Amino acid sequence: MKVGICDPIAKEGVELLKKEGFEVVDLTGLPKDELSNHVRDLDAIIVRSATKVRKEMIDAAEKLKAIGRAGVGLDNIDVEYAKSKGIKVINTPGATSISVAELTIGLILAVMRKIAYADREMRNGAWPKKKCKGIEMYGKTLGIIGIGRIGREVAKRATAFGMKVIYYDVYRPDESTEKELAIEFRELDALVSEADVITLHLPLTPETKHLINKERIEMMKDGAIIINAARGGIVDENALYEALKSGKLYGAALDVYENEPLKESKLFELDNIVLTPHIGAQAKEGQTRAGIEVAKKIAEALKS
Ligand code: NAD
Repeated sequence: MKVGICDPIAKEGVELLKKEGFEVVDLTGLPKDELSNHVRDLDAIIVRSATKVRKEMIDAAEKLKAIGRAGVGLDNIDVEYAKSKGIKVINTPGATSISVAELTIGLILAVMRKIAYADREMRNGAWPKKKCKGIEMYGKTLGIIGIGRIGREVAKRATAFGMKVIYYDVYRPDESTEKELAIEFRELDALVSEADVITLHLPLTPETKHLINKERIEMMKDGAIIINAARGGIVDENALYEALKSGKLYGAALDVYENEPLKESKLFELDNIVLTPHIGAQAKEGQTRAGIEVAKKIAEALKS
């Protein structure tokens, strides 16, 4: 059976498929709009986020039994259509949770200690020591919205820094998990007004679109911080811009945007925001775990 690799995955994953007896077809070098011409005889395809698996491609892959996504989000796959044709859709939800959690902590530190700003200024010939007086994580309250796989990893790391951690989620974990993670539940608006730093770790859905909007930002403490490494659109970028510009917020960091790739934005004018290009899952170890996991799951799906 043949497995087509449309976006690069860890070599360990490719080796695992070969060891299991599959023929691996490397399609990573092809222009994305030509992929549909090369999938006719494939039994499975593996993608990350770059390849869009839409109806046309699914219809072209006449033998397709499984689609594997090395990573979490399935926004790039027409999941319902694939399932309606009996094709299994597989992802690796936990493989990069630690990678995203570590980036989140990095973003909190970069905002609080003005690390990115200092680096930028020094390269422009400045010595901005006086402008770089920051604040500590220690003793501050972190509000985590969405206490799933990533939220929990963030909670563990934040408590190690001496932060108090409160959370909001539509599903409350049981008491023993709350105790183990040293986290306390708050209703959403209570969390928003109590936290010094708010970090988002929930999906983008019609209910969560602009969850952090002008009204909620007004409820926040003066000098609070917002971090979004979940999905663009959960934070209203216009409202965020105004609150950063007026000084209502101390700072913010975004890894995800309403429109990606973000090439132009008024956010670029501001010194108190740290921007990264959707790199939450882009750590070597996380990608290795994702590559191995997707390969294992595809092998299982094709053999069952
Ligand atoms: P998860 O499913 O384990 O956790 C999500 C949590 O959000 C769940 O506990 C769920 O109950 C909660 N939730 C859902 N809707 C909610 C709502 N309306 N209000 C409050 N809570 C709600 O997911 P995860 O693996 O922890 O991922 C979290 C987010 O991070 C996802 O949006 C994912 O796409 C994103 N992510 C980003 C990157 C990146 O590169 N920056 C990488 C991986 C994942």
